[in-house]
Formats: sequence, structure tokens, C-alpha cells
Amino acid sequence: MSGAGMRGSGMTSERTRGRMVERLRQQGISDEVVLSAMVAIPRHFFIDDALAHRAYEDDALPIGFGQTISSPYIVARMIEAMRGQRELGRVLEVGTGCGYQAAVLSQVAKEVYSVERLAQLLDKVRARIWKLRIHNLRVAHADGYLGLAEVAPFDGIVVAAAAPAVPPRLLEQLAPQGRLVIPVGTGERQQLKLIMREEQGFSERVLEPVKFVPLLERLA
Ligand code: SAH
Repeated sequence: MSGAGMRGSGMTSERTRGRMVERLRQQGISDEVVLSAMVAIPRHFFIDDALAHRAYEDDALPIGFGQTISSPYIVARMIEAMRGQRELGRVLEVGTGCGYQAAVLSQVAKEVYSVERLAQLLDKVRARIWKLRIHNLRVAHADGYLGLAEVAPFDGIVVAAAAPAVPPRLLEQLAPQGRLVIPVGTGERQQLKLIMREEQGFSERVLEPVKFVPLLERLA
């Protein structure tokens, strides 16, 4: 992974990502598959130049249009919970944003689909995944409340924006044993939830309090 856009920051940033991963371990992330994926994907590549020097701090950062890139910890936490130590075939991300989490997902699943309601964000994302030579990731301008019925079911779904309640379409699109990770709630009162499709029905676990931008209805 050494596209033209990474020139000049290659080795340094790989070392910096090593430190980021040490921090993630201290924060309780233990899935080696997820940690390797976080080392493989250059986070600075998904952030505008003016902020790129802060790419490996454990912070959410602005990516334009009032949206944010999630912190490394939350990206790792969500993917670890969604993976549940399984081999993943097809997965869905809702809320592509700058494309970072989708790129990390591309390292842990065979096929990744990511949907975003703001069309303006997607051209940049397509250019980034092209430069990084990621071939198993498709992004689409679509409303995440509806999922992506035409390619469902998914072994896992991660939602990167907070919904007032779990969207029923996403539950329907989970494969058997499928796992959905989603922030649920409004404003400051949000909880990250893990929902698992069981032989009959679903089970649910609350992971931790979180703060995400809202999942909005309809395309922009
Ligand atoms: N996954 C990103 C973070 C994205 S922030 C990362 O790697 O850091 C959340 C994104 O969800 C925003 O880009 C927002 O536009 C998008 N979003 C909000 N509501 C949506 C919806 N209904 N469908 C699809 N995307 C939505």
C-alpha cells in the first residue's frame, strides 16, 4: 500500500500508527485482525491536509459538511464488536463520511459496501480507495435507514451515525449469526449497541456511551 498520495509520510506514519495501536491495546482492543487493519490503513490519508498532523491522535476530526471522522478507538471498538472473532464475508457500513472506517473494514471482510447520504463526500472517497488500491469496497449514495437490500444479507453492519431507534431494515438484512453495531439515542444520550441475530429473534448488548452525529432521514 504505497500510492502516490502517501509520498513523504510513509515510514514515519507507519511508526506513528504502531503507537496508535499500542494505545488501542491499552484501551482494551484485543482483536489482532482489527489491530493489523488499523496499522495497514493510513488514517492521515482520509483527513484534509490542514488537520493531517492530528490524524493519529485519539480524536474525532472534522471532514466537512458538518461531519466528523470517528476516533481510532471508536472505529476499532465497533469493528471488533461487529466481527466477534468470525471470518466475515459481506459487510455493510452506514455513513461512509471520509471513507476511513470503510477502508479499515476492507481489511477484515471479503466484501464491503458503504452507503452515504451526502453525495459530495463520495467522489473524494472513491479517489482515496482507488489510490490505496482497495478493490473489495463499494460505496453508494443511499439512505442508510434502508440498508442495501439488493446485496443483503450481511454478516455484519456498522452504523457510524446515531439513530433514535434501531432501523428495522438493517435488522432484516442481517445474515444468520449476523451482528449489527449501532449508536442509538439522540443528542448527548447515546449508547453503542451490539445486536446479534439468533436462531430465533435478536439479542442485544449495550457496549458503552458514545457521541455520534445523527443518522438523518432521506438523501441529500
Ligand atoms: N465512517 C466515518 C464517519 C462518518 S460520520 C469514518 O470513518 O470516520 C457519519 C456519516 O453518516 C456522515 O458522513 C453523514 O453524512 C452520514 N449519514 C447520516 N445519515 C445517513 C443516512 N441516513 N444514510 C447514510 N449516511 C448517513
